[in-house]
Amino acid sequence: VADPQKRLERMIEVLKGKRCRLTPQRLAMLRILSKSEGHPSAEQIYEQIRADYPTTSQATIYKTLSLLKNMGEVFEVTFASEGSRYDGNKPYPHPHVICTKCGQIIDPEFEAMAGISQEIARQTGYQITHQQVNFFGLCPKCQKEGQSPESPESKE
Ligand SMILES: [Zn+2]
Ligand SMILES: [Zn+2]
Repeated sequence: VADPQKRLERMIEVLKGKRCRLTPQRLAMLRILSKSEGHPSAEQIYEQIRADYPTTSQATIYKTLSLLKNMGEVFEVTFASEGSRYDGNKPYPHPHVICTKCGQIIDPEFEAMAGISQEIARQTGYQITHQQVNFFGLCPKCQKEGQSPESPESKE
């Protein structure tokens, strides 16, 4: 996990460079993204900010997200069925582990992605611009909840 304070400063710098007005709403948004706990969706970010700044518009959230994404300061995890989730703490491509039951998304400790990209590029002759690696399954909490309390040894 990157230092959220450093990520916050970096994102402020990038938006300033784009002559973006750093409103209190935007700063609140950057603070959420700098941690990106649980990889929030745009809606979740919107709800959190609206609690403090009721006048925030959804358009501001999406505009800021796409700006940061285009600048390589936010990594978007896209799903076919659900909406996107965002990681502003680790803005570069990295694998994700996703719980299919509760939707929790975490970052496993795995820093070998760059090497894999190079290997794929070497094998195929493609120029790899980005990649997305997702692992799906049940998180430990959902595994426990799936077990019936009467028969803890039953395997389904
Ligand atoms: Zn879960
Ligand atoms: Zn992540």
